[in-house]
Amino acid sequence: MGMPLKYNPQPFKQIDYKKEVEKELDEGRNWTAFLYGYTVLEAYLWDWFWMQVFKTGKRKEIHKKASEHLEKLSLKSIVSLHVAFGNITKKNYTEILDLSKIRNQVVHELVKLDLENKKVKKKLIGASKKAVELCDEVAMKYRKFLDERAQEIIVKYFCGDCEGPMSSEESTCKTCNSKNKKHVINLKDKKIVI
Ligand SMILES: [Zn+2]
Repeated sequence: MGMPLKYNPQPFKQIDYKKEVEKELDEGRNWTAFLYGYTVLEAYLWDWFWMQVFKTGKRKEIHKKASEHLEKLSLKSIVSLHVAFGNITKKNYTEILDLSKIRNQVVHELVKLDLENKKVKKKLIGASKKAVELCDEVAMKYRKFLDERAQEIIVKYFCGDCEGPMSSEESTCKTCNSKNKKHVINLKDKKIVI
């Protein structure tokens, strides 16, 4: 039986970003469509990074100092580290940084941008679709990473007296009425009996 170690999804992961981006594009708000998709992509990358480094979402309580330092890392560093961890490909790296450049252009030059210009429109629509595509890919890989991590730790319960199986909910053994409940934790190749 697997322990409920699966990470609780944060609100941004419950967002149907594909639907939101499509809606914005349908209504002609190309730059908000792009920013939306891009922001979700960045959120996934950061979230995964914290999970990789601290093995928990509750980073601040555990490693306050370290996380303060790491929070200052640039997106470029985060994306490089994901490549180094083997989480994403080098192609992903280039694609994400390309979108990051467009994001900076949109944010810093929005007033100057001619949103009705055909070239600008085309660029933003293309970038929005690319952001959704990358969100899908990163989210899928991130989920796989979390699933694999959850499987690293398996807990089994048994009776400490007759060694019969017990479930996580039972406090007394059905076979011998013993309250001596024990559990085995399988940590990949290691076995720990408690
Ligand atoms: Zn028993």
